[in-house]
Amino acid sequence: MDKLKCPHCERRVFSTKQKLKLSPVFRLKCPECKGLVSVPYTSILAGIPFILSLYYGSIVSPELWGIQIIVGVVIWFYIYNNHVHLIKA
Ligand SMILES: [Zn+2]
Repeated sequence: MDKLKCPHCERRVFSTKQKLKLSPVFRLKCPECKGLVSVPYTSILAGIPFILSLYYGSIVSPELWGIQIIVGVVIWFYIYNNHVHLIKA
């Protein structure tokens, strides 16, 4: 899998797993240029499908709760990985 580009030095140094650990509050340091990297606050919106799956699964359709949560997490990770970009922190 391709590594992700550092927004400071443009070198491909970050893995997808490292990106999943990031939040607007938690940052990583680039191993090449030592620049701090984060994700934008709008990345929180990627979690909306997961929140909806919790609500829908527990209130509307409890018999399918487990499946709906898994679907919510998969959609969350898909949006996060494809539409949330690393930024300079
Ligand atoms: Zn860098």
